[in-house]
Amino acid sequence: MQFIEALKLRNKLFFLFILITMGLISVGIIGSMHLNSMKKNIDKLYFGSLVPVTELNEIIQVYHNRLASSVYKASRLEISSGQSSLEIKHSLREINKKWKSYESHFKRDDELEYLGYAALEIKYTNEYFLKIYKVAKGGTNLSRINLSLLEKKVSNIHNVIQKLIKYEVDVAHYERRQFIVSYEFTKRQLGIALFLIIMAILLISMYVFKSIQKDHTQLELTTRKLKKVNKKLENVSYTDSLTSLHNRRYFNLVYEREIKRARRKNSYITFMMLDVDFFKQFNDTYGHIEGDYALQTVAKVLKDTLQRPSDYVFRLGGEEFGVLLTDTDESNSAKLARDICDAIRDRKLKHENSSVNEFLTISIGVVCCIADDALDENMLISRADEMLYEAKETGRDRYIITSNVSSAKIKSA
Ligand code: GH3
Ligand code: MG
Ligand code: MG
Repeated sequence: MQFIEALKLRNKLFFLFILITMGLISVGIIGSMHLNSMKKNIDKLYFGSLVPVTELNEIIQVYHNRLASSVYKASRLEISSGQSSLEIKHSLREINKKWKSYESHFKRDDELEYLGYAALEIKYTNEYFLKIYKVAKGGTNLSRINLSLLEKKVSNIHNVIQKLIKYEVDVAHYERRQFIVSYEFTKRQLGIALFLIIMAILLISMYVFKSIQKDHTQLELTTRKLKKVNKKLENVSYTDSLTSLHNRRYFNLVYEREIKRARRKNSYITFMMLDVDFFKQFNDTYGHIEGDYALQTVAKVLKDTLQRPSDYVFRLGGEEFGVLLTDTDESNSAKLARDICDAIRDRKLKHENSSVNEFLTISIGVVCCIADDALDENMLISRADEMLYEAKETGRDRYIITSNVSSAKIKSA
């Protein structure tokens, strides 16, 4: 059974199909073989016993009802001798025909001896009637015929044929007994063969089915694991390793989706571009490791400040961050931008070479508008970039917000 385990799922199903088909074919072949042998036996019973007995009975009938009867009638002058000779002729022909047919059936050796004797008796009896026929044909009146001899002849042939009939009936009984025995044996054999075939098919099918089930469970397990790993991979591929914020790749995905959603709902969309002030100097002063820590701190502040499930924070690259807000109007967006600037400054990360503040600060460019079909998604980014530039130009450590993608409004933190 190990070879079943080794098969692929598709091949297992194919194997099951072949198995069931073979089983059905073999049941069909065995069944039709047994039906054939049964038909042979029934034929044997019918042609071996019923037909010969019928023929013998018919011969007796011809002797009694036609031959003897016509001679009686002729003796009492009820029919003419011509009519009686015709009837005798036809009856004898009929008897010979039936006797030949009877003799042609299969006979057992022990039957042949008595058959020879019966044939002789029939021959003598027929010769007796032939003599009467000749007399009647010659036109002689049959009134003087010896009726007791006629009776004796007919009774004798009746007994001879009756004995044959009895013999045939005995044989038929014997054949039937034999048939019943062989029928019961065949039935048992067929039953056992079918039972064995069905059991074998059931057992193997069960085994194959279990194996398929095992494969299926394994497949489900692997698929579940794969889904988990894929989800993890997806998370990793959308996450920035330094800050654990969403990365630029995720930004590309979410940004387009959220803009489309806001357009459909005609709702507010806010995009912020954030950049750490004089970060090059910060690195130069405190080293890259401190610089990385500062970026992690900025990320933490952003996460803490923006906690709604619909708020997205991204690290877009280097010391640049992006914030995407939905359903947030201009005053709330401005408040959040100010809070971010304040919170970062309040972290008091020492930045002695900054010309703006003794602590690390950040500048933010903000665009907040109601999205409509005319909103250009690239324009939103470039306007936020422009606002950031303005924030830098006008002294840093501040945000500048615009609600109109074509005219900016400047505010300092
Ligand atoms: P500005 O106020 O005009 O933004 O001045 P800036 O010095 O911040 O501007 P600039 O873009 O010239 O400098 C950005 C610096 O950020 C340069 C680079 O050394 C630093 N930086 C970018 N990515 C990382 C990072 O992953 N870790 C660290 N430590 N520094 C980074
Ligand atoms: Mg920069
Ligand atoms: Mg900078």
